[in-house]
Amino acid sequence: MDIKSELESLWQALQPSGATLVAVSKTHPADAVAEAYAAGQRVFGESTAQELCAKYEILPKDIIWHFIGHLQRNKVKYIAPFVHMVHAVDTPKLLREIHKEGEKNGRQIDCLLQVHIALEETKYGFSAAELREYLAAGEWRQAPNARICGLMAIATNTPDETRVQAEFAGMKSLFDALKTEHFADADHFKELSMGMSADFPLALAHGATLIRVGSRIFGHRDYSE
Ligand SMILES: *Cc1c(COP(=O)(O)O)cnc(C)c1O
Repeated sequence: MDIKSELESLWQALQPSGATLVAVSKTHPADAVAEAYAAGQRVFGESTAQELCAKYEILPKDIIWHFIGHLQRNKVKYIAPFVHMVHAVDTPKLLREIHKEGEKNGRQIDCLLQVHIALEETKYGFSAAELREYLAAGEWRQAPNARICGLMAIATNTPDETRVQAEFAGMKSLFDALKTEHFADADHFKELSMGMSADFPLALAHGATLIRVGSRIFGHRDYSE
């Protein structure tokens, strides 16, 4: 299928839940983003600062850019002037840096805290216990320009659906608990970013509000992140 037909089928799949599609365009040329844009897609995800900045420069300015990969602190300054959401905030230091650069740019940058749920896929992210401890300590309240809007996770890359379901269900209950404990009055704490090309239907069934889909829309990448 072409980009437009893939997008249309994804939008349809998302309709019952009202979740948002982040079209992951990393490694694909700006032309491919332009094609998806022409079909009506507005939210795109990239996972390196260099590639994100290069595409930002040449593509329409009403694109809503999400940074979905592991972000090094020294790269925050390059994307802070325009990035809408950073999905994978995995350390307190990174949150502070995003706050600092957001403040410099007179902006509030939406952030998701990454939770490490997969068996082997990534070493990044807070454990559930670390996250509870971090939020309870409250230091994040001094970083208002990095606005915590929810959680993000990458499930184990496995054909074992039971495993993946359990991970997504665990994320949903962690999200609900943290919402009650720390964000009951914060309307912006509402995002649960989980689900990729291979597992987004399961993620939607467990309450994902943002799915990050790349290869299904744009085809296979030459290399993976
Ligand atoms: C690349 C990437 C995706 C998209 O993966 P696909 O399998 O191509 O859909 C989603 N999330 C993150 C964090 C990624 O790095």
